[in-house]
Amino acid sequence: MVNFQKLNAIKDELAAAEVALVAVTKTRSYDDLRSLYNAGHKVFGENRVQELREKQAAMPQDISWHMIGHLQNNKVKYIAGFIDLIHSVDSLKLLQTIDTQARKHDRVIPCLLQLHIAEESHKFGFSHAELLDFAKNKTHEQLPNVKVIGLMGMASFVDDKVQLSNEFRSLRRAFEELKPYFGPDFKERSMGMSGDYQLAVQEGSTMVRIGSLLFS
Ligand SMILES: *Cc1c(COP(=O)(O)O)cnc(C)c1O
Repeated sequence: MVNFQKLNAIKDELAAAEVALVAVTKTRSYDDLRSLYNAGHKVFGENRVQELREKQAAMPQDISWHMIGHLQNNKVKYIAGFIDLIHSVDSLKLLQTIDTQARKHDRVIPCLLQLHIAEESHKFGFSHAELLDFAKNKTHEQLPNVKVIGLMGMASFVDDKVQLSNEFRSLRRAFEELKPYFGPDFKERSMGMSGDYQLAVQEGSTMVRIGSLLFS
């Protein structure tokens, strides 16, 4: 069930900091999604293509759907017609595939490049050096049907606040370094989840992805 007290408290907190909330609805029931929707929340994040497609088809059409999980090239076609933001672009090949599929729908799809900021090695994402190469080569300028509007990062699954803050700060620094290459549309820093969003906001997040905290 949606915890409205928590939802409203988080919304107030984020509004004061001018940070956007992506409600992560993965694995949640349609009842939960409708509760959020009826309360006026219309930005939903999902991490699996199959589930995302089903929910998009079944729910009202004015919802803004964000893909936040690892995306395989061969599945881009299923979401290219409706997805509003892809947070998890972790390879050039994927960005090229999104561009190709977006063109078929006559759309420009906003994307975030995922930067690997966690100490853990299993998380997806570009390294800092890869992103800098990517930016310097102006690769994105050859892809008219995608628009790179910022970075996304996932911190380590640890309780150490100093470490978490350092990881978020590294994303902020990379953002500032890359911004000149991408121009004025490059403005989003998607970082922060249920356990660490306050630290992420302190370090300059513009968009948090919160799931479990909204439900009880
Ligand atoms: C599940 C998920 C979240 C939300 O996690 P919570 O801890 O439930 O807030 C955020 N980002 C990504 C990429 C996720 O997969």
